[in-house]
Amino acid sequence: MRIRYRNGVELSCGGERLLLDPMRTVRGSVSLISHAHSDHVPRDVDRPAGRVLATEGTAAIIRRRYGADGIEILHYNEGVEFGRFEVHAYPAGHIYGSSGFLINCGRKAVFYTGDVNPLGGLTVESPARIPKSDVLVVESTYGHPKYRFPDPHRVRMEIARWVAEEVSSGKSPVIEAYLVGKSQEVIALLNRYTNVRVAVSQRVAEVSEPFKGRFGLDYTTSPEGPHVLVTHKARVRERARVTGWALFSRRKQDFPLSAHADFDGLVSIVMGINPERVFTVYGYSDEFALWLKKWGVDAEPLGGEWVNI
Ligand SMILES: [Zn+2]
Repeated sequence: MRIRYRNGVELSCGGERLLLDPMRTVRGSVSLISHAHSDHVPRDVDRPAGRVLATEGTAAIIRRRYGADGIEILHYNEGVEFGRFEVHAYPAGHIYGSSGFLINCGRKAVFYTGDVNPLGGLTVESPARIPKSDVLVVESTYGHPKYRFPDPHRVRMEIARWVAEEVSSGKSPVIEAYLVGKSQEVIALLNRYTNVRVAVSQRVAEVSEPFKGRFGLDYTTSPEGPHVLVTHKARVRERARVTGWALFSRRKQDFPLSAHADFDGLVSIVMGINPERVFTVYGYSDEFALWLKKWGVDAEPLGGEWVNI
């Protein structure tokens, strides 16, 4: 088997090609989408040149956002064969529908994490499940030791407390969060940790629809009385922001709640599998590979040239 990072993560085995989160689909090749964040969805997903597969949650969000209704469903824990490739999807804990892929061809097994969160969240099927593999392709968004996130349960409590205080002092607080995944996490935590009415922007309502029944989200687009507004683009300066990147912010209303593994989480994924070889992708891929090498792991950032594995 061979691997490179060009049109997404590309695998080649016996002349056949498998594309993981490609920028564009390719005629004659199968494309797998790990989750519905736009940087992982092929630009031509609504008119694909080849077969496209994703989990039910991912397909539902993509259908809603891009009008793509030809995605074939890949179920967790179910093997699917494409020519010489055999693929299993595992929950990634990142957003609803997110999955990693275990790919077998010949005697080698490769696991691609996609974006991954070992701690999971309130609007995902499960925390990440990471199977054993010979080769690991691991995301490294926060692959630098400066990224160590506080306990997410504590961050949720702090968000809830801030909202309750604002509402009790007569204000209607606004929370800004990414449109896909994070907004729904915020709605879920507000539903669960407060009794404040949750209002959402029209865009957030549209994207939240596939999450709504699955995770029992309660929100409205036309609030009356005291409420908190969740939007992905706030027009007021006194908004709270919820993102992992808020870790170093000094603003009181910035809350570091992340959908990704932090540095320790990534290290524990690698050490838990103890693969022969590791390739890092996205974010701090150079730095993370260097850290792993220091600890004796055969790691390198995945580049554009084919590598035999
Ligand atoms: Zn993502």
